[in-house]
Amino acid sequence: MTRVGVLALQGDVREHARVLAARGADVVLVRRPEELAAVGGLVIPGGESSVIDKLARVFGLQQPIRDAIAGGMPVYGTCAGLILLADRITDGIAGQESFGGLDITVQRNAFGSQVDSFETALEVDGFDTPTHATFIRAPRVVEVGPAARAIATLSDDAGGAVVAVTQGNLLGTAFHPEVSGETRFHDLFLQRVRAA
Ligand code: GLN
Repeated sequence: MTRVGVLALQGDVREHARVLAARGADVVLVRRPEELAAVGGLVIPGGESSVIDKLARVFGLQQPIRDAIAGGMPVYGTCAGLILLADRITDGIAGQESFGGLDITVQRNAFGSQVDSFETALEVDGFDTPTHATFIRAPRVVEVGPAARAIATLSDDAGGAVVAVTQGNLLGTAFHPEVSGETRFHDLFLQRVRAA
């Protein structure tokens, strides 16, 4: 069985755990370095990136997660999780840090209060059909560095922003497949875990 972790400090941990378990994975809720050491991949959920950042530091997980990323562990982050995987953050709270790994700059809460949350059909590189993407106080990727690759971009009338990125074994989406019945991102993550 493929054993994977969901970072369980804050956010929509259960939704990810449910999708992963339904795809046949053995899911560990990760709150301690020993739990991280026991998994072959990690999902960082949506939630509040500044809170997850702070708790990761309090729980002694920041450095182990950075080391796991540097060591090639597959990691998938949604929304707040994407922010935590970004090398650079704009509009973070004072002192906010990330784990990093994706050569991108993300802007937090990038869609403003009027379109706080929205849903849209989105084409994704490598998918046969569009995904139904749910954005909730979502970030957008404002810069994609040479090491990262954009795999989904909103249409111009939806703002034209990059909203999904991959780099090596890292995958990040500004939206929440775990709440919309979309399983292809989790399947890609699990494929990477099995191959790693
Ligand atoms: N706005 C949140 C943050 O900055 C992300 C929202 C989400 O994960 N749905 O972390």
